[in-house]
Amino acid sequence: MHIIYKNQDEIVDPDFRRIIEQKSGAHLDRCYQCYTCALGCPVAFATDFTPNQIIRMVQMGLRDQVLQADLIWICASCETCAARCPNEIEIVKIMDVLRVMSLHKPGKKVKDIPFAHQVFVKLVELFGRMYELGFVMGMKLGNLRGLLSIKALLEDGVLGVKMFSRGKLHIFPHKTRGAEHIKRIIQRINANKPEQEKMK
Ligand code: SF4
Ligand code: SF4
Repeated sequence: MHIIYKNQDEIVDPDFRRIIEQKSGAHLDRCYQCYTCALGCPVAFATDFTPNQIIRMVQMGLRDQVLQADLIWICASCETCAARCPNEIEIVKIMDVLRVMSLHKPGKKVKDIPFAHQVFVKLVELFGRMYELGFVMGMKLGNLRGLLSIKALLEDGVLGVKMFSRGKLHIFPHKTRGAEHIKRIIQRINANKPEQEKMK
């Protein structure tokens, strides 16, 4: 876990906090850094910053550090932090806003996660539900280094056989009855979004 610091050459964005508050509807002045959100976060052990630190960095206007933080992409949107926050700060909505802003910003993003979102939404658009094998193939084709790694292929193969033997993996996709309806919803969302945010 990192300690929050401000690099000498980092520009503090005085509008950053206001933009995040406007887009998320959260009131960041209510946060008194009690750390309760961090204590319940199931992914805190695996990330660089905890949720309370992200809130503090937004308050400080550390836009670049926040938009490059691992937590905004590793966050599982489980809502534990928001449910436990004594001041009802909408941390999950803040994470959503930060992810969208991060997509627009060139630089580090946690490897593969934005791409995984795109593959997932595309499969839901096509079949109205998740198609696990298609997801694995989509991820492999989008990451040629992973495709060429013998170790990764072997690991995935072993896992695939286990899932198949337990009926968790199907060779062919199943289309749900509402697939066309779901497709229209996704297309309508895409039509109303700026180009960079579309669920491709
Ligand atoms: S639980 Fe709420 S008040 Fe406490 S540190 Fe987290 S965001 Fe701030
Ligand atoms: S919503 Fe995200 S930040 Fe909050 S507890 Fe869950 S994983 Fe952690």
